[in-house]
Amino acid sequence: MNVIFLGPPGAGKGTQAVRVCERLGIPQISTGDILRRAMKEGTPTGLAAKAYVDKGELVPDSVVIDIVRERLAAEDCQKGYVLDGFPRTVPQAEALAAFADIDAVIDIEVSDEQLTERLSGRRVCLACGGTYHVSRLAGATACMKCGAQLIQRDDDKAETVLSRLGVYHAQTAPLIDYYSARGLLKTVDGAQPMDDCFAAILSALGEKQ
Ligand code: AMP
Repeated sequence: MNVIFLGPPGAGKGTQAVRVCERLGIPQISTGDILRRAMKEGTPTGLAAKAYVDKGELVPDSVVIDIVRERLAAEDCQKGYVLDGFPRTVPQAEALAAFADIDAVIDIEVSDEQLTERLSGRRVCLACGGTYHVSRLAGATACMKCGAQLIQRDDDKAETVLSRLGVYHAQTAPLIDYYSARGLLKTVDGAQPMDDCFAAILSALGEKQ
């Protein structure tokens, strides 16, 4: 099954994508993770992306389209995948349609107010990708899964969060109509508890709980 996770930053796409991928035995393709790894390694793609990512702006379509086209050609994607954070613009969706058959698009909905609270309190482990909220960490600064240091992503700082939400509404939200018109859109309430959200996604995908 080839699935897209749509939704604003902070909606829980990454967290839910990991769980769905584990359940279905397919890979999670996160363009944000791929770009952050490239930035950390200082590759040409990483260097080109850094200025945009740091400001909360979208990396040019051609860069991310090439990344995804190449990734989806890999052997492990032939039985299906979850795209997390791609496409984010209508031109990206149009490009994707030329090299992928998408079965379902899950739109995880959360209010801007809740997103701001979630993103500015988010702490991540750069070693294993674990994600936490400060309200649940009780002062801990190390990852509970691997023990590495937790950090606040530069683009989760307050002013960048506002700009990312603005970018989402202007450039990514139009994809809701785009995929709805193609009969692929399934909307899930992302404000509900994590386990309920997961159950709603499985049900939207026609999978058993
Ligand atoms: P994310 O981890 O999905 O929130 O992505 C972090 C940042 O990576 C975004 O704010 C963008 O700067 C960049 N990015 C990730 N995916 C895309 C995409 N599909 N198109 C353009 N930029 C992207």
